[in-house]
Amino acid sequence: MKDHASCPVCGSTNIKHHRSRRLKSKMLSVQYKCKECKHFFTDSQGAPSKDNLPPTIAVNDTEWSHQSNNQVLVTGRIQQEAGRKPPTLDEVIKKFGIDETTWSVERFVVNEWEQGQSTKDGTPCIISLYQIKLTLVRQVAVETAIPPIQPIHIKVSTPKEKKATKKQFKKAVYLSDAHIGFHRNLRTGQLEPYHNRKHWSAVLSYLRDNPVDLFVLGGDIMDMGDMSDKFTQTPDGHFTTQPALVETAWLIGSILDGIPASSKLVYIEGNHENRLPRFLLNHFSSAFNVSSVRFSEEPILSVPELIVGQGVDQSRIEWVGDYPNGAYWLNNTTRLIHGHISKSRAGATAGAYLDEINASTIFGHIHRHEVASMSLQSRSGQEVETTVFTAQSFGMFGVPSQVPPFKANHNWQQGFGILRYDEAYCSAQTVSLMEEGFEVEGNMYIGEDYTEQIVKDTEWLALSSA
Ligand SMILES: [Zn+2]
Ligand SMILES: [Zn+2]
Repeated sequence: MKDHASCPVCGSTNIKHHRSRRLKSKMLSVQYKCKECKHFFTDSQGAPSKDNLPPTIAVNDTEWSHQSNNQVLVTGRIQQEAGRKPPTLDEVIKKFGIDETTWSVERFVVNEWEQGQSTKDGTPCIISLYQIKLTLVRQVAVETAIPPIQPIHIKVSTPKEKKATKKQFKKAVYLSDAHIGFHRNLRTGQLEPYHNRKHWSAVLSYLRDNPVDLFVLGGDIMDMGDMSDKFTQTPDGHFTTQPALVETAWLIGSILDGIPASSKLVYIEGNHENRLPRFLLNHFSSAFNVSSVRFSEEPILSVPELIVGQGVDQSRIEWVGDYPNGAYWLNNTTRLIHGHISKSRAGATAGAYLDEINASTIFGHIHRHEVASMSLQSRSGQEVETTVFTAQSFGMFGVPSQVPPFKANHNWQQGFGILRYDEAYCSAQTVSLMEEGFEVEGNMYIGEDYTEQIVKDTEWLALSSA
């Protein structure tokens, strides 16, 4: 055999096994790399001489993993004097008796590293360590027996179960965008409501069955179309603010009657309620913010003052003004607002609130069902904490086709929200409105038309369109 333990280009003996490849003849050719001149050459050009062979590979240190059409061989550490050649592919093939007519080498990797040691007489020396990984593929794949899919027979024994525990959460209703308002029948002078009285009645019957701790009117409860400088009001909408205030005050009285005496009502100002102070500023600024010594500190011509009916305990009503900044904080993590953002794409508004504040937000204003969540990581001491914030809206409580601007196809949904909460937690459920009511947990709440009742209670005969 030829002695080719040196590079055929520069003659250096500092050569390294590089890789092996199969030739068409199915013979294996081994490639080397000269560490000096970086030249690559194969067996036929030069290979380690026989007297430079590595020590015997320990067979018991080797792991084989066999599969039908491939095998992987991983050796343990192979140790030899520094500078000596690593085992070649040929040697490995011979050593493990690999049948080259059946198997092809897919990958041959020699990992190499050095370690300091001392000889028997204590002289320090450097040794080379190798590990070999050899991947073989069967040249003609054999059919593997993949069993047909069988019906599964397993015995089911119920794992130990823990009963759900009842936790007393507080309960709230959030309802917005009712747009209470009227068209006047110009022939009869009667008022036709924008809003659906059966929906309001269904809410009142829900409250009778389900005591809530908080009832939130989330803004745009009244439409106040007559006060708008933005939309030109047709004559059928003129002078409809007073009856809308009367009906709203009557409904607030009914809600306070329907919830436990210890529960309160929060009214968050929406852009539609905000039409009143702006209207005064634009048309009757001397009446703006005039308050009465006799009643309260709220301006006489203001929604919080006007919606409190006779005999209603004003201390149970909390007015959140200052639209659009006004917010009612339900607990440490969740704020309730009317809303000022309105994106056209479905879901985009909820996403925008998550960008606005690191808190959960319940909002209205867009007349749609939306929900989006975001996990935010923050560092507290040595720990990284993850908090999930959610922005959610439940749709409008009013009737889409009745609320200006009158468009053929509003992308609006009807609903309101039921919240369960404590100091840090809030989970919200959207209740969708049906024709005459809604469903909560399998219970149907169908409303009655209360027109006769409200006319009797308020003596506003025009509130009846009959
Ligand atoms: Zn609205
Ligand atoms: Zn609004």
